[in-house]
This record gives sequence, structure tokens and C-alpha cells, in this order.
Amino acid sequence: MCHNVIDGRFHTQCGHFYGMATQMQDCLRTDCIFSCRHPAECKKTSCTRLMAPPARNPIRLSKTDCAECTQRQRLGLDSFSLSNNMNTNIKQAS
Ligand SMILES: [Zn+2]
Ligand SMILES: [Zn+2]
Ligand SMILES: [Zn+2]
Repeated sequence: MCHNVIDGRFHTQCGHFYGMATQMQDCLRTDCIFSCRHPAECKKTSCTRLMAPPARNPIRLSKTDCAECTQRQRLGLDSFSLSNNMNTNIKQAS
């Protein structure tokens, strides 16, 4: 059964994984419709039509929080100045 392999960065601090590139891992079976060995004209219903769950391939490990978590923490600690900034932006837009 074919599956996608997602290359990406894994943040060990918060446990989030961010994919950067996806590539398909071909199982090379003739009875799997995703395989390059599967004949295009094949009409058999017994062939595999589902891909296995994608596998994560952390090509980079980061010992820090991801950008999203870092931002969330910053906003949580500093929400007052954020709302001030938003008000300023609205005034500028109008
Ligand atoms: Zn396959
Ligand atoms: Zn087939
Ligand atoms: Zn995170």
C-alpha cells in the first residue's frame, strides 16, 4: 500500500510537526492503483484503492516551540498591547 512521506520540522518542545515537502512512497505492487506498476487499464475491484496514513519524516529537529506556539504564548502574556495595535490598524484603514 502506497503512502505519503512528509518531510518536515519537528518541534520537540511543543510536539508539533510542520511539513515542508510531501513525496509518495510507491509500494510497487501491481494490485495497488497508486503504484506505478499498476496497469492503467486495470478494472479489477480487488485492487487497493486506499493509501496508508502518511508517515512523518522529521528531517529537522527543533528544540524550541514552533512559531505558532511562540506567538500564542506571546499573545497570552501580552494581549493588552495586541488589542491596542488592532485598534490602531482599524483607524489607519478607515
Ligand atoms: Zn501502493
Ligand atoms: Zn488494478
Ligand atoms: Zn507548537
